[in-house]
Amino acid sequence: QDPYASLNPRMRVRSIVGEGIEIHKLARGKEKEDRIAELLAMVGMSADAMDRLPHEFSGGQRQRIGIARALAVNPRFLVLDEPVSALDVSIQAQIINLLQDLQEKLKLTYLFIAHDLRVVEHISNRVAIMYLGKIVEIATRDEIYLNPRHPYTRALLSAIPTIDTAHRPERIKLPGEMPSPMNPPSGCAFHPRCPYAKDVCTNVEPKLETGRGGHAVSCHVFPAP
Ligand code: SF4
Repeated sequence: QDPYASLNPRMRVRSIVGEGIEIHKLARGKEKEDRIAELLAMVGMSADAMDRLPHEFSGGQRQRIGIARALAVNPRFLVLDEPVSALDVSIQAQIINLLQDLQEKLKLTYLFIAHDLRVVEHISNRVAIMYLGKIVEIATRDEIYLNPRHPYTRALLSAIPTIDTAHRPERIKLPGEMPSPMNPPSGCAFHPRCPYAKDVCTNVEPKLETGRGGHAVSCHVFPAP
């Protein structure tokens, strides 16, 4: 999430990227050095970076080092938790493009966690929307963005900034604050803020039910298509 906190300031890049290789006994000596240089090249950095410390790099470069570290153990699946939210928009685009290139090249699967729905739309094949720690809707990217069902999903999508004034959806403003996940409301946890709530919503928690094309929704009023 935060490239300024995720790298040990006392470790050189060689050790940061090489640590996983050592722990998993994937390479030693010259072979390990070559692998570290290869990983840095994969994320667009030169081998000179190996002898430097994290404070010598920008946020985007640090994020590249973090990605190289993640790739060091030859993963097939990566959990990317807000990987670009701390970066400037222009740098965000570079990192997203890098992640997409690596995904294609290394045949990776990503679980990409983000609050920025424009970034999610750009990178995802399938999208899950969560409210108070539970998935309330999950579908293909196009289904979520073109045919959202759950009222919370609709409210989130209506809040995406756009310069396309002709097609800007009407902003859905939700009343109240997000409740504490420690003490969630009864029934549907979204009911105190939902403009469509009915009596059943306050008492019965809706199940996540799957409909056409694997589009799943948990809502009494707007079920899966
Ligand atoms: S179950 Fe009821 S309160 Fe919950 S999202 Fe659907 S309509 Fe709104």
